[in-house]
Amino acid sequence: MHNCVFKNLSYPASYTRVLLKDGSKLRETFFELGLSGANITVPHKEAAFKACDEIIGFANKVGVVNTIVKKDGKLLGYNTDADGFMFAIQEFGEIKSILILGAGGTAKALSARFLQDNIQVDVINRSEGRLAYFKDIGCRCFTWNDYESKKYDLVVNTTSAGLKDEELPAPKEIIDAILNNTSFVADAIYGKLTPFLKIARDKNIIYKDGADMLLGQGVLANELFVDYALKKEDINTFMKKSFQL
Ligand code: NDP
Repeated sequence: MHNCVFKNLSYPASYTRVLLKDGSKLRETFFELGLSGANITVPHKEAAFKACDEIIGFANKVGVVNTIVKKDGKLLGYNTDADGFMFAIQEFGEIKSILILGAGGTAKALSARFLQDNIQVDVINRSEGRLAYFKDIGCRCFTWNDYESKKYDLVVNTTSAGLKDEELPAPKEIIDAILNNTSFVADAIYGKLTPFLKIARDKNIIYKDGADMLLGQGVLANELFVDYALKKEDINTFMKKSFQL
């Protein structure tokens, strides 16, 4: 995505992958590799928040960073996931209530962003431990044991269930109850039809995977990487093009 933009707009940069096993080594790895920017993905976004010298904007609200840029020797941390997701769901029209599956970094960013727009947010997670943050900011929270079925405009899977396996984000009977009560479904996972989205498809619910979210967060991250030296429309055009390669 990023290389397609850099190449087509003759920007002198390249984007590659680094497997970071230990999140606490993020900062030293960044400097050792001589990077000028990075995206951070599952499961190191909370570690990325801790690794930065300064946190800018919305990332402060959620304690989760997905984009780091080096400026004057300091690491600046941003979160572009939430606005990327708002871009992705525009086509669903007005959304007033949302159920989020999962309580990790992505769920934190999205829930805080939805609440900012006065959307009602419920969260369901496999384990209780990570729900405290969501209760504090005003979400209604459930675990698999105490979930009560309710109607939602949109249900979003932010768990990593289905990413590298064929698991559902919750037991099948809960997923059925959830999907029988929603207008739209989205998954943060992209590049495959997850078992969760397959059920949505079979129930004829309008759904989308995480590709547009990926695009949205990527455009915003690229703007930060190049310090706004490229036009947003051009970044968008070439990033979109990379999806067809
Ligand atoms: P985290 O590791 O921070 O959180 C993962 C969450 O998934 C936790 O709530 C965890 O529950 C839950 N979970 C993991 N495995 C299972 C399972 N088998 N069944 C049920 N729940 C499970 O991850 P992130 O929030 O950073 O990322 C989540 C997903 O979103 C990833 O798949 C990632 O690829 C995708 N993503 C996509 C983006 C895009 O641009 N499209 C952007 C950002 C993320 P528990 O608390 O119980 O462990």
